[in-house]
Amino acid sequence: MLTVENLEVVYNDVVLVLRGLSLEVGDGQIVALLGANGAGKTTTMRAISGLLEVHEGDITKGSIHFGGTDITHLDPSVRVKMGISQVMEGRRIFAELTVDENLTAGAYTTDGKDFDRQYDRVMTLFPRLAERHKSVAGYMSGGEQQMLAIGRALMQDPELLILDEPSLGLAPKLVQQMKEIIVEINGHGTSVLLIEQNANMALSIAHHGYVMETGKLVMDGDPKKLLKDEDVQEFYLGLRSDGGERKSFRDVKHYKRRKRWLS
Ligand code: ATP
Repeated sequence: MLTVENLEVVYNDVVLVLRGLSLEVGDGQIVALLGANGAGKTTTMRAISGLLEVHEGDITKGSIHFGGTDITHLDPSVRVKMGISQVMEGRRIFAELTVDENLTAGAYTTDGKDFDRQYDRVMTLFPRLAERHKSVAGYMSGGEQQMLAIGRALMQDPELLILDEPSLGLAPKLVQQMKEIIVEINGHGTSVLLIEQNANMALSIAHHGYVMETGKLVMDGDPKKLLKDEDVQEFYLGLRSDGGERKSFRDVKHYKRRKRWLS
């Protein structure tokens, strides 16, 4: 469904942030993209949704295909109409509007024919939003706002939903709930690119996982195997405490060995 090939992104004509990134999201898959702060995860999302320009970023090499069409330089609104929706980090809802108004705004690119069906789908998925549908979004809890942000993106009935750190700042119980919601969304046929620092959460529901560091992939494979990987455990789960030397993702030989094992 989505193929990113050898992508290079530069900000302000000087800062090289993505350095030949390639990844794929298959039809009906949940794909996890992990990486530490500053690795380039949000930049990857901006490149896919077409919002790089707003941030003074440029694709200087590589390509992005969606459903076989080259979308590398298409307008963001065209990409939304093609079926790509994103939920940015930090619950960017319209704080002064009600839940219903936010959801109506989310359907702005559609012709409105499916509005009722999509609205009902969102309300079924998030009963809490149904209870608070007339509430002003800015007064709701962080978890409710996150649900609204996802609900708003779903109003476009996307084929691909990109979620940037949906678990950020949520209490463990809500993270669990978020996981279940993502699985349910995917169960209805929407593919999901899940950008996360919470490796446990993302890899436990993903069909495929990628790990990136400083703008490049350093590992990818079966999420169950990735979860057992020493580096992933050390960097993302804080499980390595044997005092041994820190193996770097950047150690290419180490990566190749690991990649053979994962494939
Ligand atoms: P985080 O988990 O902290 O959100 P990330 O993996 O999403 O990090 P990005 O936000 O893509 O990483 O940032 C990657 C690098 O690009 C960082 O070094 C960041 O400072 C830089 N960067 C991001 N946006 C811009 C911009 N508009 N102009 C210049 N540099 C930027």
